[in-house]
Amino acid sequence: MAAPDPDSPIERVEIPVDTRAPGGTTNAYLAAGLLVDPAARTGALDAAVGVGGAGDDETGDDETGDDETGGTAIDAIAVTHTHPDHVGAVAEYADLTGAPVFAHAAHVDRFVAATGLEPDGTYRDGDRVGDTTVRAVETSGHASDHVAFAVAGGGARDDEREGGGRALLCGDLAVAEGSVVVGAPDGDLREYLDSLERVREARYDRLHPGHGPAIDDPEAVCRRLIDHRLDRERAVLDAVEAGASDVEGAVDAAYEKDLTGVADLARATVVAHLEKLLAEGRIGREWAARIDGETTGE
Ligand SMILES: [Zn+2]
Repeated sequence: MAAPDPDSPIERVEIPVDTRAPGGTTNAYLAAGLLVDPAARTGALDAAVGVGGAGDDETGDDETGDDETGGTAIDAIAVTHTHPDHVGAVAEYADLTGAPVFAHAAHVDRFVAATGLEPDGTYRDGDRVGDTTVRAVETSGHASDHVAFAVAGGGARDDEREGGGRALLCGDLAVAEGSVVVGAPDGDLREYLDSLERVREARYDRLHPGHGPAIDDPEAVCRRLIDHRLDRERAVLDAVEAGASDVEGAVDAAYEKDLTGVADLARATVVAHLEKLLAEGRIGREWAARIDGETTGE
């Protein structure tokens, strides 16, 4: 765990989760009064938000920094997206703190289904979240409802660029090491690449991902993630051009490693690539039927 950054008003609390999240944890953040991605209730997060006898809990010391005064006031709660490893304790912390909960205006139904809560308010791209100074930055791709949150003063420098902030709570858009899943049907590779490009061009000083450590070189990491996708796309296109005639064949040809335990993710990833290639007219229309049935449902 990295020490709290004295230049950053952003506090990270690692939350153990049951899913296949990278490293088995999701990062919840507190930034400018906004609680983001409370994945589960923990003593450390209680302490960070100032509820539930935070003073008796010794386990969260390194996550909770130097705040010994009863925690940080919460003005709003939001999530980067509604995958299960990001939403688990939204309702609980809304109840514990009394803070209003905000959802993307275009994805309220999905938010309600995932959290069991009707949001108190909504935001759209570029809006401030509730009364906080944090702004939503639409970054769909990993999930269709994915947003990031730009935090003013969240980096070392202070100037006016996209989002009005220098740090970005980037959810599952990016990770410092490895890559994130962008799989059909919920993931959309074209949107994902556009989102990475948008964030790269906005030149944030630092990205704070949903999993793993902070990203101090957003330009290089966005570039690496874009290149990784384009490499995979090349492998899928090569597989099709070499004669793969169904999704199975494309998966086998595009991945050279053992897929035990991740075969479903590999398949969803390959289908997302095939959807992009099809939309761009780079593979034949016959692939529409071959990937149909992979692309329906949630
Ligand atoms: Zn996710």
